[in-house]
Amino acid sequence: MSYIPEGLRQLVHDRAGGCCEYCLLHEDDNLFAHEIDHIRAVKHRGTTEANNLAFSCFDCNRNKGSDLGSIDDVTDALVPLFNPRQQQWADHFQLSGVMIEPLTPEGRITVLLLDLNNMNQVKKRLALVSQDRYPCIFPEND
Ligand SMILES: [Zn+2]
Repeated sequence: MSYIPEGLRQLVHDRAGGCCEYCLLHEDDNLFAHEIDHIRAVKHRGTTEANNLAFSCFDCNRNKGSDLGSIDDVTDALVPLFNPRQQQWADHFQLSGVMIEPLTPEGRITVLLLDLNNMNQVKKRLALVSQDRYPCIFPEND
């Protein structure tokens, strides 16, 4: 993981309101600290700048790794992962209860690669929903 200056780290955190920008889990509700994700991985010449960084929970960041996209089963096309800096979450996903349902090819690939509906995450969300702590809401102006 590359070095990220504290000021930039804070900006990415605050911009997301402490929410994972992929699965909408708030950092206060996870055992492991949320991380700064390089949307385009350093391996693929992604830069450590605000417009290439996202706030991500540990699980989403681990599952994403350095992936950029995958082949979509429905369209058989190479599709990029959802990009929280260029796209709106609600345009690509919707919640059905605590399940994250994809609305687009980018959404499908992201649910698949990041394993957004794995059983542990779903169980955690169910417990949080009953306390009005899921989904995490992004700040208004992004
Ligand atoms: Zn997440």
